[in-house]
Amino acid sequence: MNTRDGHPEQLLPWYANETLSPEEKADVEQHLAQCEQCRNEVALLKRLREQVQKEEIPSPGEFGFKRLQRAVNQEQRVHSVPPAWWRPALAAAVVVILVQSALLVNLWPGPKPMTPLGVDHDGAVLQITFTPDSTIAQIQKLLERIQGTIIDGPGAIGVYRVRLAMDPVDEREIDRIVTRLRQERQIVTHVSKE
Ligand SMILES: [Zn+2]
Repeated sequence: MNTRDGHPEQLLPWYANETLSPEEKADVEQHLAQCEQCRNEVALLKRLREQVQKEEIPSPGEFGFKRLQRAVNQEQRVHSVPPAWWRPALAAAVVVILVQSALLVNLWPGPKPMTPLGVDHDGAVLQITFTPDSTIAQIQKLLERIQGTIIDGPGAIGVYRVRLAMDPVDEREIDRIVTRLRQERQIVTHVSKE
């Protein structure tokens, strides 16, 4: 199983989604039986999912990461600071939810940066649009590989803001990541530095 620190964090969104294979599901359930941390996360993911499903037809303006972020921020006030494993799994869940809503498909027409270059930004942030054909698993893997977390999106034209785990910011490394992403033509249609 794909684990970090022994937690099947990458599988939890799929578990909450009920799309795991029977084998994976059994593995996760075995872990959940003995891990309260992961049980709590599954509960959170399921709540997020229900909340999204209750919505009627999503419109790009109201639907999306912002609202989920609000829901998540409320969670954070109730429970303390989330542990480090929490963010990537949540980002994955957000991608799952957005892809299910076909927003990636609907919002993709073409690339354009959301904010002009040089505007004050939070660390190393890339603006990425994904191809309509890219799968959740592909996006998830890509984000893992660049150690990226979706912090915002999709914008009106399908742009996601992805923060790279990088401290201090290393411009040359960012350039290398951008170059690598531009080669992922099956998944990424556009990538730019913020
Ligand atoms: Zn666990």
